[in-house]
Amino acid sequence: MKVLVTGGAGYIGSHTVLCLLEAGHEVVVVDNLANSDAESLRRVEELTGRSVDFLQVDLLDARALDDVFAGGGFDAVIHFAGLKAVGESVTKPLSYYRNNVVGTLNLVESMEKAEVRRLVFSSSATVYGASENVPLTEETPLDATNPYGRTKEQIEDILSDVGHADARWSIALLRYFNPVGAHESGRIGEDPQGVPNNLLPFVAQVAVGRREKVTIFGSDYPTADGTGVRDYIHVIDLAGGHLSALRFLANKTGTFRWNLGTGRGSSVLEVIHAFSAAAGRLVPFEIGPRRPGDSAVSYADPSAALADLGWSAQRDLASMCADHWGWQSANPGGYSADARAKD
Ligand code: NAD
Ligand code: UDP
Repeated sequence: MKVLVTGGAGYIGSHTVLCLLEAGHEVVVVDNLANSDAESLRRVEELTGRSVDFLQVDLLDARALDDVFAGGGFDAVIHFAGLKAVGESVTKPLSYYRNNVVGTLNLVESMEKAEVRRLVFSSSATVYGASENVPLTEETPLDATNPYGRTKEQIEDILSDVGHADARWSIALLRYFNPVGAHESGRIGEDPQGVPNNLLPFVAQVAVGRREKVTIFGSDYPTADGTGVRDYIHVIDLAGGHLSALRFLANKTGTFRWNLGTGRGSSVLEVIHAFSAAAGRLVPFEIGPRRPGDSAVSYADPSAALADLGWSAQRDLASMCADHWGWQSANPGGYSADARAKD
């Protein structure tokens, strides 16, 4: 297939582009580089020996997007582009609604004009809000609790309505749990700007000496060791889920929702211990207060993806930590050598 990947220079996008190329697909990436570095795609080219057509385009520029589709001949679109920081979405809700929701409207309108009606969308387990009715199934009611999560919920609604209005559309809404890890080569990985919001990149930066210690956000949750439990999934397993969804959509129309998780929860303490083992050094931590809005436990029921797509996550927490460490230790400042200066 010829696949347009929005946000393909980013963390999950770059790994998925790599897997698409390895599977023989042709890939065009659009990204405005708001939260990424084109170096990721250069390294994907180096790893695969194949070229990636990269266009620096903002999804908010509807005309430029139409130009991308004119003569593009795409069979499908995988749509990663979006802003994703929960805390920032609370302080800058309008830029999140504009970027994520309006960006998606522009994309879908361009697709309509070009008669490309096969779309895989990056949704998130955050659409389930603080529900602790685990494991979370695709039928768990949606109840996002912050503007970022609400953009995902709104986009899911918009895309479902589009699919409902025109039966020619094939749409996959993929609800990711907690993506971590990196390609086993250590050449591409997650490169957060500033202080990481998420646990794994923070732990990795402590292990590599960029930060002093991890603060555990609460140790009084009703979990086995008192710390929060999440469903961490290796980014290469997640990328594979997109290829499985594309295969499924190749000959089916309709709108489909799948959880992409492992079905297994790990606590913050388990993650810190697993990372320490992978890195061969102790990761110092302290116990702090709970982070507002956090739920105690979140993990997926991934059985629908297995039944429909034949997909399931293969890699365990030890392998996630080993590969995350492989990337972090080989690239302590991320893609840009002077990344420390940006902190
Ligand atoms: P990322 O920030 O690394 O990648 C997103 C990419 O989109 C970046 O390269 C950014 O420059 C680009 N982008 C943003 N706005 C754009 C615009 N208007 N036009 C063009 N490009 C734009 O994030 P990621 O972790 O790779 O996440 C990819 C997708 O998966 C996002 O939609 C995110 O919300 C979703 N998601 C991520 C996680 C996670 O924990 N990483 C979890 C669930 C869902
Ligand atoms: N967490 C933590 N310290 C940190 C970052 C995260 O203790 O510096 C905890 C957080 O409270 C949650 C888990 O780690 O229990 C995963 O947090 P993350 O932000 O990575 O994912 P999310 O909570 O959005 O699922």
